[in-house]
Amino acid sequence: MDEHDTLRKRHLADMIGLMPSLVARLDWSAERLAEHRTARLRELLRVAVDRSPWHRRRLADVDVDRVTEAELADLPVMTKDDLMTHFAEIVTDPRLDLAQVEAHLETLTGAEKYLLDRYHAVASSGSSGRRGVFVWDWDTWAFAYAALLRHELRGWMGEVSGPVTMATVAAGRPTHASRAIFQTFSRPELVVRGFSIASPVQEIVAGLNELRPTLLGGYPSGLAALAREAAAGDLRIAPRRVYTFAEPLLPEMRGLIEQAWSAPVCNWWCASEAFPLAVGCGSGPSMHLSDDLLIVEPVDASGRAVPAGTRSAKVLLTNLTNPVLPLIRYELTDEIVVLDEACPCRSAHRLVADVEGRLDDSFDYAGVTVHPHVFRSPLSRSRHVLEYQVHQTPDGAEVLVRADGPADLPFLQHELADALVRLGAPGRVTLVEVPAIARSASGKFRRFVPLPAAQPSLV
Ligand SMILES: [Zn+2]
Repeated sequence: MDEHDTLRKRHLADMIGLMPSLVARLDWSAERLAEHRTARLRELLRVAVDRSPWHRRRLADVDVDRVTEAELADLPVMTKDDLMTHFAEIVTDPRLDLAQVEAHLETLTGAEKYLLDRYHAVASSGSSGRRGVFVWDWDTWAFAYAALLRHELRGWMGEVSGPVTMATVAAGRPTHASRAIFQTFSRPELVVRGFSIASPVQEIVAGLNELRPTLLGGYPSGLAALAREAAAGDLRIAPRRVYTFAEPLLPEMRGLIEQAWSAPVCNWWCASEAFPLAVGCGSGPSMHLSDDLLIVEPVDASGRAVPAGTRSAKVLLTNLTNPVLPLIRYELTDEIVVLDEACPCRSAHRLVADVEGRLDDSFDYAGVTVHPHVFRSPLSRSRHVLEYQVHQTPDGAEVLVRADGPADLPFLQHELADALVRLGAPGRVTLVEVPAIARSASGKFRRFVPLPAAQPSLV
């Protein structure tokens, strides 16, 4: 057994050890959850003030031993720009710096790896704006995985017999948390097989037909495409539960997926910074916030709290379980609606509606559909690429890149062209370095710009 496998097995044992207590918390009262959050919040702020010079300056006036959850609203907000600009001053392990985390990310090709024998690192271009890099502590990684699956375990306690097979159709590289975390906690009782969403659909269909998974997870757009394959009779699987994550689950996609497999569709609201922010329990279409692991403040565009039932403009995240990277009132651009209602499953973890948002456009090349992830994955892995925008062209794509150093554009060009050709799409790709990428009048960033649909001929 190599060193990585020894670590992974220990991590798996720790995760399995955490699971019963995390499942039990689903039955905690709202009061008990609130007390728990306050205690964890004080611990987090203490670590931040003791070990992060950046946080120490900003939290100088806070009495960390007495602060309450309500008083969190008086603390300053932090952004991804703050994090990426002051990375070394924010992380609480002095051995970590951005260059080293970036170097580690570049080594992640086929399999996930530990950083300093303890951490996991992930990179993300997020739904908008610049690229981010995040470090997860040992326990945080285990908490996250256990929290993704605990709603099922709560229902299945004592009922599960025999191995469970799960297929995920998601990112192909372990720089993405959705890929890496399932690799870390893979075990004989729950075999997880990852299919890359950048693969041709026929290849995924053949693999799934062979695997016959009990559980199916993946990006909503990818699963909706597979639901069509199931409706056409080409995909013949019968998952008992379907998980969706990493993209907005649009109502028509939920409908397609439910129809294809007559199984509960459990949506996960996740971010590379922290997850699960919320998890569907299968009793209804809403998701439960992880009310013991993090604090989510829905706010309007100017940062004021919005009440239950009102759509927020963004959310402020305080991650209570990741002391190595204290995220305190960290801004995420997700728009959510907290629901003031109880779930039939009776868990007191608050409900939110499916998170809405704009889905990145897929490109269509004469019937060959190219998922945005085909571009997203190589571009978000490249450390000097701050921002990018992909324009579909008749014979491939033009990619505008804003970089802060020597991005290896010829290599990226080659990688992207290869990926397109493999899917049967035309592969002429050009990358152009630009000083800035224009935003729309609303300030929204459109990362993928397809060609206009073919105009009907007038003659
Ligand atoms: Zn529920």
